[in-house]
Amino acid sequence: MTNIIEMKNIYKNFYTDEGEIVVLQDVNFVLERGKILGILGPSGSGKSTLLNILTHLLTPTSGEVQIEGKVGYMFQKDHLLEWRTIMDNITIGLEIQKKVNEEAIKRIEYLLEIYGLWEFRNRYPKELSGGMRQRVALIRTLATDPDVLVLDEPFSALDYQTRLMVSDDIYKIIRKEHKDAILVTHDISEAIAMCDQIAVLSKRPATIKHIYDIELTVDKERTPLVSRKAPEFKDYFDVLWKELDVYESK
Ligand code: ADP
Ligand code: MG
Repeated sequence: MTNIIEMKNIYKNFYTDEGEIVVLQDVNFVLERGKILGILGPSGSGKSTLLNILTHLLTPTSGEVQIEGKVGYMFQKDHLLEWRTIMDNITIGLEIQKKVNEEAIKRIEYLLEIYGLWEFRNRYPKELSGGMRQRVALIRTLATDPDVLVLDEPFSALDYQTRLMVSDDIYKIIRKEHKDAILVTHDISEAIAMCDQIAVLSKRPATIKHIYDIELTVDKERTPLVSRKAPEFKDYFDVLWKELDVYESK
């Protein structure tokens, strides 16, 4: 089994006016090829900090990050530019990297077509629903043809029903495009529904308490909606709920 990402002994401290905060304390995990790894942790535990270190937006105080290949980062907010069309929003990363070429445009057109956004390519973000905007954000991330996707609470701005549908869509896109992924979330059900493995972060200073393999019995192709009906779903939920210990006294 090859590892596409390895995070080794990651520590991160921030220095603020109130003093030093230790956010990450010896975080270790690997992402294996072909897997979706969930990182589940309470709000403020350091999940975004961890992803920022992984994508080299932040340097760790100490520790080592190893990545095989190119990472595409999808943020919590879609960050679509309201004054650019859908197509021009999607090509922005390529423009910055000066990589707009015929092949890249063909790839984007293909993604727009199969993921139901072709008719909207010349529209503006405000004309799209929240779920469609998230799909545009994912296609923008896929446009640079990353090997691995890093998704920071990508559904948290959506209402519950939309979130179920969009997480199903996004899951299918990740699988169809054969991407490995790290999905950060504070939503236990979403993590079980979408991930092959779940790493649970403790409260600050965060470390990984446990990594669970999620094995679900499904009678058709696994998707998040199908996973939610698996007999093991509730057992994983109970274990993770205990592990997260949301009511733990400070
Ligand atoms: P999460 O994504 O799990 O909600 P974050 O990684 O955003 O958590 O933040 C973890 C902690 O680190 C929070 O207490 C936050 O206030 C603090 N933090 C994040 N970025 C900075 C920064 N640049 N300077 C100081 N503190 C920060
Ligand atoms: Mg965050």
